[in-house]
Amino acid sequence: MTILIPTPLRAYTGQKATVDVNAATVKDALARLTEAHPELKTHLFGSDGKLRSFVNVYKNDDDIRDLPEKENTSLSADDELSIIPSIAGGTPAIAEEALAEPQVAELPKLSNEEIARYSRHLILPEVGMEGQRKLKAAKVLCVGTGGLGAPLALYLTAAGVGTIGLVDFDVVDESNLQRQVIHSQATVGKLKVDSAELMLKGLNKNVNVVKHNTMLTSANALEIFKDYDVIADGTDNFQTRYLVNDACVLTGKPNAYGSIFRFEGQASVFATEAGPCYRCLYPEPPPPGLVPSCAEGGVLGILPGLVGVIQATEVIKLILGIGEPLIGRLLLVDSLGMTFRTLKLRKNPNCPACGTHEIQELIDYNQFCGIAAPTETGPLEVASHAAIAADLQEKDGIPQISVETLKSKRDAGKAIILDVREPHEAQISSIGATLIPVGELESRIGELKGHENDEVLLHCKSGARSQRAALILKQHGFTDVKNVSGGILAWADRIDSSMPKY
Ligand SMILES: [Zn+2]
Repeated sequence: MTILIPTPLRAYTGQKATVDVNAATVKDALARLTEAHPELKTHLFGSDGKLRSFVNVYKNDDDIRDLPEKENTSLSADDELSIIPSIAGGTPAIAEEALAEPQVAELPKLSNEEIARYSRHLILPEVGMEGQRKLKAAKVLCVGTGGLGAPLALYLTAAGVGTIGLVDFDVVDESNLQRQVIHSQATVGKLKVDSAELMLKGLNKNVNVVKHNTMLTSANALEIFKDYDVIADGTDNFQTRYLVNDACVLTGKPNAYGSIFRFEGQASVFATEAGPCYRCLYPEPPPPGLVPSCAEGGVLGILPGLVGVIQATEVIKLILGIGEPLIGRLLLVDSLGMTFRTLKLRKNPNCPACGTHEIQELIDYNQFCGIAAPTETGPLEVASHAAIAADLQEKDGIPQISVETLKSKRDAGKAIILDVREPHEAQISSIGATLIPVGELESRIGELKGHENDEVLLHCKSGARSQRAALILKQHGFTDVKNVSGGILAWADRIDSSMPKY
């Protein structure tokens, strides 16, 4: 039988997407898998030997937690097991219940210009005049105006959703334009909410754009959400995703969810009365560093377009009360194989958010996700890499040095310089350091043998991965490790302006 390995875990299977094993039960199959690829073990199982809660295992399209025999479920040769870790994303009656349904008479009227504009909707019986007026009355909040938020907001605006709320605090960066089609070259450097408003108003002058130029936090989420009918989660990090989920459950707003990583995406509709929430699927976030962000791992520019349009479709269906929303189903999109699969999701009666309702207020999501409060990289779309000028103090016991200090130490030729980026990144730009990607550091630590007491300077693209790598070296007994703050981007800014930035 075959086990499908998701992209974030392929680093531990020698980049294999599938592993074939002979096994009679799910438990056996996972044991064979971790025997063949021992590094997977700590990623799949906790120290108590139980499957980690952010790793879900599916036999064909069923979550094994929902099958009576759980891990002892038997397998036959043509069964497929899928490992679905969280990724750095019903019925018409339910949908109608989830939305406050205004009486038809109270719905806003359409002008002649709007009737002409939406004529292709008006001749669809499932939309029609009443549906178009529901769209005009609807208020949708897009959390993030990045890769997912761009197609979401554009298509919702084109379709005639009356009010679009935008939450973002970032500014448009050139590196966003590969996928964030709501921004343009003309708005690089401008606030994303302003840039997005310009594009949306250009597309449909009737749309009411409400800008929330802020980071979504536990302090403001409930206040912002209360004015909207549907929330569309276009974030790219776990702390905001759990925040959006819990705020949706607390305010009773459906969450049209999407997430993307490299070539793969997920979509669902969470937090409806009858269906599960994101916490039912993933009770806990993965530990920091296990799942790289799109800024680290990359993303095919077209993929957020695909997934964001799926989210927009779900939003429209929820507003109109038509079709079968992705409530209780997780859609998996693989753009390389161009395959779409749906897995069944069930509401977890023990879910602290939507099951036991133990969560009565929003918590500290940075702490929940085990990360420091965001600093140079924001919690929505990670885009800007603010240059950090001087040498800084320590972070988690690791001294942080500037690129200027790195240069003087490199020129003196004493320290060992380690680049922990991926080989294809080193092809874009390099300062000639030894290359060991952070994901391979533990297994290749022998290559640094004998240097435990030497000064080791670590760099990556912007300083986050090399900080993690420094902590790994420290755990392995290296006594003098330092992290280069700002990474090779700071080097390109301040030491070598001919170096390309990516
Ligand atoms: Zn739940």
